[in-house]
Amino acid sequence: MVRTVRTHRKRHRTRELKAYFDTLLRSFGRQHWWPARTRLEVVLGAILTQNTAWRNVELAIRQLRRVGLLHIDRLRCVSPMDLERHIRPAGFYRQKARAIRAFLEWLDRHCEGSLAKLFALPPAAARNQMLQLKGLGPETVDAILLYAGHRPFFVADAYTRRILARHGLISLNATYSHAQQFLHTHLPPDTAMFNEFHALLVEAGKQFCLRNTPRCDACPLQRFLPSGRPRMPRRERRLTGRKADGVS
Ligand code: SF4
Repeated sequence: MVRTVRTHRKRHRTRELKAYFDTLLRSFGRQHWWPARTRLEVVLGAILTQNTAWRNVELAIRQLRRVGLLHIDRLRCVSPMDLERHIRPAGFYRQKARAIRAFLEWLDRHCEGSLAKLFALPPAAARNQMLQLKGLGPETVDAILLYAGHRPFFVADAYTRRILARHGLISLNATYSHAQQFLHTHLPPDTAMFNEFHALLVEAGKQFCLRNTPRCDACPLQRFLPSGRPRMPRRERRLTGRKADGVS
């Protein structure tokens, strides 16, 4: 009996999540992620986008392309100082240069410097190993595995967690791994869907589900709010009462 109830609840959540996905897709259309020409660009973009806006990543990638560094062989030979200089527009350039170098060194040691060999590894093992590298957190590693390796790891970033939490699907203080586990439990391991769904949630987060002032009235996901209002932590509820400050 308990098992039947659990199965029923799981199916209900799966249908609900698919309805979120369909609604967002109808509203925003396909997002064509990841905006990159090669798998190496995806890897670099995933590292460079930490704590910065995508337009800054584009500037850094453009600079790397201009100086011919969008090749593993050349990137591996560039001096730390030059790498830092070229990726400076993406911010936190020292840490990010260290993360890029750590990734390349690991790739050389464990995958003969080949991204194809990396993505041929068992996905969970590749993930665990990359998570040991300094400067690569779960969001970065999952973005690499999903968007460059086409492996079904949902990128449960801050936008995703915020939307799921405000709709009562996960707790308000759910961690990255809790949110990802929720999505992996309730969605089939469909790489193309994970790719698109994450991109759509980011779009919803940027346009409507702002950090302090959610714009539910205009949001395509409003009809899914369980009680017509988003669940918000007390601190955010206080901020919601104030004038919008434009911070997302
Ligand atoms: S309906 Fe409100 S809480 Fe839900 S995603 Fe949209 S803005 Fe966020």
